[in-house]
Amino acid sequence: MSARHHGSCLCGAARFEIEGAFESFYLCHCERCRKDTGSAHAANIFSLTASLKWIAGEDRVKSFTLPSTRHSRSFCSNCGSALPSVQMNGALLVIPAGSLDSEITIKPDAHIFSASKAGWEVELEKVPQIARLPA
Ligand SMILES: [Zn+2]
Ligand SMILES: [Zn+2]
Repeated sequence: MSARHHGSCLCGAARFEIEGAFESFYLCHCERCRKDTGSAHAANIFSLTASLKWIAGEDRVKSFTLPSTRHSRSFCSNCGSALPSVQMNGALLVIPAGSLDSEITIKPDAHIFSASKAGWEVELEKVPQIARLPA
């Protein structure tokens, strides 16, 4: 039995379903991923076998590939949220972990491009944890 997962963008215009297994999960700290996510790192799940089906809003999905690189991302043209993309001529499905609404059991395999971390990304495990909005 193969797993089925659901996901969506922030505004809800784009919704998708993924069927199949996830093979790897990387947290990428490279400069391109930091720019593209606006965060410390990207959190992408990869699959060579799973299939992606758009349930809604496929016409809202835009893709961008940085010229002369393989760095590519898909996003909702309404809200800008990261969405899954099919890369390498259809061979590879890349799923931003945060776009998934389903619970997943796969855990990150590794931090990659750790040499490119932002200067402020130091000992984050020591930063205070606040359960909600700070008072
Ligand atoms: Zn959206
Ligand atoms: Zn990266």
